[in-house]
Amino acid sequence: MALYRLRQVRRGTGRAGAGLRRRLTQRRGHNSDVPHSTLSPRLTIKTRVMTTIVLVSCMALAYSGAIVWVLGLQGVEAEIDEQLRADREQLRVLATDGINPATGEPLATPAQALEAHLRRVVLSPSESALGFAGGELRWTVPSEVASAPENDADFIAAITPAVAGTESVIRTISTPRGSYRVLVVPIALEAEQPAALVHAVDLDAAKADLRRTMALYTAAALISVTFVAGLAWFAVNRLLRPIGELRHAVDAIDERDLTTRVPVRGRDDLSALAAQVNRMLDRVQTAIEGQRELLDDVGHELRTPITVIRGHLELIDPTDEQDVRLTQQLALDELDRMGGMVDDLLLLAKSSQTDFLVCSPTDLGALTDQVREKAQALGDRGWDLDSRAETTAGLDAARITQAWLELAANAVKYSEAGTAITLGSRVDEGDLLLWVADQGIGIAPQHMDRIRQRFGRAPEAALHAHGSGLGLSIVENIVSAHGGRLDIESVLGEGSCFTLRIPLGGARAPAEEVDGS
Ligand code: ADP
Repeated sequence: MALYRLRQVRRGTGRAGAGLRRRLTQRRGHNSDVPHSTLSPRLTIKTRVMTTIVLVSCMALAYSGAIVWVLGLQGVEAEIDEQLRADREQLRVLATDGINPATGEPLATPAQALEAHLRRVVLSPSESALGFAGGELRWTVPSEVASAPENDADFIAAITPAVAGTESVIRTISTPRGSYRVLVVPIALEAEQPAALVHAVDLDAAKADLRRTMALYTAAALISVTFVAGLAWFAVNRLLRPIGELRHAVDAIDERDLTTRVPVRGRDDLSALAAQVNRMLDRVQTAIEGQRELLDDVGHELRTPITVIRGHLELIDPTDEQDVRLTQQLALDELDRMGGMVDDLLLLAKSSQTDFLVCSPTDLGALTDQVREKAQALGDRGWDLDSRAETTAGLDAARITQAWLELAANAVKYSEAGTAITLGSRVDEGDLLLWVADQGIGIAPQHMDRIRQRFGRAPEAALHAHGSGLGLSIVENIVSAHGGRLDIESVLGEGSCFTLRIPLGGARAPAEEVDGS
């Protein structure tokens, strides 16, 4: 039976070993397949944030510039049209009065009226005025402007129909030499040769001011973007520094060194994230160190029975039947002990998992009765019931029974036959108390900490009974999975009382317990 159990354990270990090897191979494969440099992001958050800020600033300034340009153009065109209409009105008044305001003489013909008007007109550098009489170009004002439209044959061809017409027009004329806003005002008097005023504004020259303004705006916008980018670089650097530190800290962490932590500065989201990562690293470190300690402890504890069995098998005399039988018995005992220890270890490992508990409302009075009844089979003791909690609580009844019976088994193990063992349950200040008190060997105060540790045993207990030192660890795991703790009171040589103290608010999942959140 014992051999069968050992083979099972070996198979299990083999499979677990294969799984571990596979995982390690996968992990090694993963690490070696993906070079470290490819894991580091090509575009850092800082670059992305900076690019976004600069792009958004450029777009906003370009959009504002476009609006200023369009509105400015509309303003320039409206102003030109206003000037042209004012010029037309002046000519109309002059022709209607028929008196030359400069000389006071009457204006007899359209040509005279037009000449008088052209003598008075004041033009800006972008404007020209032409006087036509009898369909011929007669006057130009001023004659020395660079873009003189009278020299532009396409322009003259374009205005000729309007000059010969009877209606005044304002229109835009574009030729290969430039664009003009043009006013044409024909003047006709009966029996006299018609004349016409052509007032042209060079649009390119008129927009020069606006273009200068836009050039200044562009320069100012570029300086602003550079300034914004500089400020943003400084601010983003400051804000995102914890992310860089986080990356370096996570890079520095491996299976050998889990001590690196991320510096936490300030009180913003990133500092909170850094603090959370540190807490997670604390938990990972505790878990990995716990695993290492467990493996060390297990290796150490399992080596003793293996050494004992090996030593006896080496010294066995195969011809001595009694020696063979004794060695066989001893080997079976040791293998049984190893099997029990492995079972305890598996339970211990399981009790640390998050899905370990299955809680449901439990009648505590009934549970107390059941545990007392089951405990009576553990040994010949005076099994008493102290008190019985008359309430219901959310518990994993199976696991609580297991922990309680473990305490009862210890009470039997470390006390003499016939002595009293008392079980009880009650509610105290919102906590549920479940206890086992014995009149056994007791525990010395200096061994209190040691017996709570895995494989920890008091020297007097080792003299009294066999044990693995894993029972109390399992009990502690079960009770802390319920959000409670194990209290121990003991007097050496008089007896001990072990109490499970569980808050009645309901069990907490182990993950929450570890999380501390
Ligand atoms: P084990 O009983 O297998 O040694 P446990 O983890 O159950 O392992 O107990 C750890 C140690 O606590 C025991 O070795 C013993 O020293 C001490 N102990 C536990 N229960 C009692 C008890 N009822 N009376 C005295 N000592 C006890």
